[in-house]
Amino acid sequence: MTDIKDLIHTPTGQMLIGGKWVNAASEESIPVEDPSNGATIAQLAAATEEDVDRAVAAARAAFEGAAWSRMRPIDRGKLLEDIARKIEEHAQELALLESYDNGMPASMAMMVNLPASAEIFRYMGGWCSKLGGKTIPVSGDGRAFHAYTLRQPVGVVGAITPWNYPLAMASWKLAMALAAGCTVVLKPSEVTSLSTLRLVQLMHEAGLPEGVVNVVTGFGHIAGQAMAAHEGIDKIAFTGSTATGKKIATAALGNMKRVSLELGGKSPSIICADADLAQAIPGAALACFFNSGQICFAATRLYVHRSVYDAVVGGLAQVVESFPMGNGREATTMLGPLVSQAQQDRVMGYVEKGKAEGADLICGGETVGDEGYFVKPTIFGNTTKDMTIVKEEIFGPVLSVTPFDDMDAVIKEANDSVYGLAANIWTNDLRTAHTSAAKLDAGSVWINCHGIVDPSMPFGGFKSSGWGREVSEEGISLYTETKSVVAAL
Ligand code: NAD
Repeated sequence: MTDIKDLIHTPTGQMLIGGKWVNAASEESIPVEDPSNGATIAQLAAATEEDVDRAVAAARAAFEGAAWSRMRPIDRGKLLEDIARKIEEHAQELALLESYDNGMPASMAMMVNLPASAEIFRYMGGWCSKLGGKTIPVSGDGRAFHAYTLRQPVGVVGAITPWNYPLAMASWKLAMALAAGCTVVLKPSEVTSLSTLRLVQLMHEAGLPEGVVNVVTGFGHIAGQAMAAHEGIDKIAFTGSTATGKKIATAALGNMKRVSLELGGKSPSIICADADLAQAIPGAALACFFNSGQICFAATRLYVHRSVYDAVVGGLAQVVESFPMGNGREATTMLGPLVSQAQQDRVMGYVEKGKAEGADLICGGETVGDEGYFVKPTIFGNTTKDMTIVKEEIFGPVLSVTPFDDMDAVIKEANDSVYGLAANIWTNDLRTAHTSAAKLDAGSVWINCHGIVDPSMPFGGFKSSGWGREVSEEGISLYTETKSVVAAL
């Protein structure tokens, strides 16, 4: 097992601004914990408004500088491909760092996060030379015109990311911004900044010009808030909770910066009477409990047709109790700890509410061990729509299961949420599958599967789950401005 000291290649307490490691204006530091035992493994700089100003100035200078603005699109694409390869070369190291930082099993990071990070750079690299406008036949006042559109980078992007998939979330935002020709100030979560710092260091080793990507580490209410309100930032790309998203959208109004928001969720799974239960039971279990439920699109409300309810609930309990739980560096671990003491307390608070509001506790419902922030995968049965655990995003390993009798009624209940990020349905009936997909209020619907997220598929939420779609062709359009040009001939 590699020691954390061998994994941290970035200078303690420093940030990366203008291609150089710099001290923050303040000497305050933020301790980083290993969530499997609570040990302090690093100290981060706590950026102030002054540090954000420095990072924005560096990003602006790079945006206007020749090294970036005149780089040939095909060369920018090659740079993104080189970054993808660099990530692949360092995948094992980055996966271990992610595990120390966030608690997730390193094997899971190798299987999901690392490919997701490398592939988004590779995919977006292809767009650099293909972001063309259109020629448009305008009618105008009867004269002849030559009219066309240009797609230009939006400018300096402020990217703010959460702690649950640090590397993948940073990579998504960076790859889209760079492919569009933008420059970036990136603030990772203060809980998990280590892998992001290392990623951006590796990007420089791959040839990224100075100042194109700047990383400030620090608290959201200070550094993040300063970015959201900053007049020198043209767009904020945010992933995190809906509560923070609202603060960011409000702060961004000052200079009417562009805002894209990937926010919370409370996604439904639906298991129909005709579903293949051998697939649906483990599928619905992983849809909720993967990464210990700390996934924005975790399907934490499960609706099961009454005719198969007992079989599904019994099967689910068996599956989740077989998931090996432990330190994320052990090869066999499937469920790691939650990210922090605060998150463990929050999740246990919801477990107590579930019990108090009368849901049946099927399994779990308790913490594990004396050290680290482990919570047993928890299933509540016979839940109803007014229970807190059914309405609110828990962001932990807690599943509510509700029986249903009628397809129309279950779709209505699935849609009865302020969120609309994702949904899945398990059925062998094609008509049920596709009519339900059309009716579900969700940015992603998975049929007989869950969590298939691909660089070429738009990703984002309906309702309070966000604004805009990330990745794919739609995602990159959030990082460009369209200019209409009309020339009288
Ligand atoms: P969070 O909102 O607490 O923090 C996210 C980021 O915002 C962090 O970097 C934080 O420092 C920063 N921040 C906090 N307050 C801020 C402020 N006032 N101004 C600017 N920035 C501020 O979220 P979290 O706890 O890190 O992550 C969990 C949440 O993220 C969950 O709600 C989850 O659903 C959501 N999430 C959504 C997606 C998605 O793609 N839709 C993906 C992952 C996580």
